[in-house]
Amino acid sequence: MKALVKAKDEIGLVLSDVNVPKIGNDDVLIKVKTTAICGTDLHIWNWDNWASSTIKTPMTVGHEFMGEVFEVGPDVKNFQIGDRVSAESHITGQNSRNAKAGKLHLDPETVNIGVDRDGAFAEFISVPARNVVNLPDSISDQIGSILDPFGNAVHATLSYDLVGEDVLVTGAGPIGIMSAAIAKYVGARKVLLTDINDHRLELAKKVCDVEVLNPLTGSLEEKMTEMGIKEGFDIGLEMSGSEQAIDQMMSAMIMGGNVSLLGLPSDKIQFDLSKAIFKALNLKAIYGREIFETWYKGMALIDSGLNIEKVITHKFHYSEFETAFDLLNSGKAGKVVLTWD
Ligand code: NAD
Ligand code: ZN
Repeated sequence: MKALVKAKDEIGLVLSDVNVPKIGNDDVLIKVKTTAICGTDLHIWNWDNWASSTIKTPMTVGHEFMGEVFEVGPDVKNFQIGDRVSAESHITGQNSRNAKAGKLHLDPETVNIGVDRDGAFAEFISVPARNVVNLPDSISDQIGSILDPFGNAVHATLSYDLVGEDVLVTGAGPIGIMSAAIAKYVGARKVLLTDINDHRLELAKKVCDVEVLNPLTGSLEEKMTEMGIKEGFDIGLEMSGSEQAIDQMMSAMIMGGNVSLLGLPSDKIQFDLSKAIFKALNLKAIYGREIFETWYKGMALIDSGLNIEKVITHKFHYSEFETAFDLLNSGKAGKVVLTWD
């Protein structure tokens, strides 16, 4: 089968012929239909310090995908050939204290698809059945392929009661835009989304009805006054990993405000912890999705009318992967999907 493989210690990926993965008794073989490129895949493509010290070559990459069940292991009871499915990309252990308590997203033995084991940028992928999720008809193939990053947004955003609250989202990447859309959809009063990339802010305006600000060209304080936010934002969703954005968020929060930290800084950062302490902020670090409550809530949001289709800006056939990665590296795209038909 065809697969996009990090073949050796160098930038880029190679379109290769590899064996169709074998499935174990509890696994499902999925015929991949649509995949999406994640920031993680860009790190792997660009072969930065994190990627080169984490990925063991050769590795088929990619973890955001949907497809159809093609074969099931003998012990798999709850999936049929032809089911439309996606899958949770974090394959957790089952023996730690957290896993045994049902808190699978906190299991320390978690293995990531497309990072620690062969991934989804391929014609077929083998996944443990317990990670596979059936897709309702209300979820299109394209949206089915981005439920993983949408789940990051759902997890971070729904960590707090948003009804009537004022929300600051820093970073208008796909996850920040989806977070802003969710906040607005579930009843936040005012939502402000910031980014230093105007393309991203323009995209955000197409996806959801929120205020936007480029902090390089506009003042956050003035924007807050204009929006009628007097004491600060009640909820902060940090989706950039930028030191400047984190600093700005801490300054703009209300006393006792709630913050989700999802953005990953690329290095150690300077952080004024005393500002957070004197404001008595509640800081929650977010990793992945709550398995599987986030999947349930996210699909329910879409089923009930939340529309995030426009966050997907480009669609390519997998053979055009180089164009797709170049486009994403340029910062001029939202979510980019690859089709595998
Ligand atoms: P992305 O890189 O597409 O988006 C990040 C955005 O932040 C970019 O548009 C960038 O221009 C913007 N930004 C940079 N500096 C800024 C500043 N000073 N103020 C405001 N915005 C600024 O990433 P994404 O795919 O949307 O993911 C968001 C973040 O979450 C990334 O850091 C990613 O690595 C991280 N992530 C974390 C998890 C997790 O489990 N915690 C999972 C997936 C992604
Ligand atoms: Zn991802």
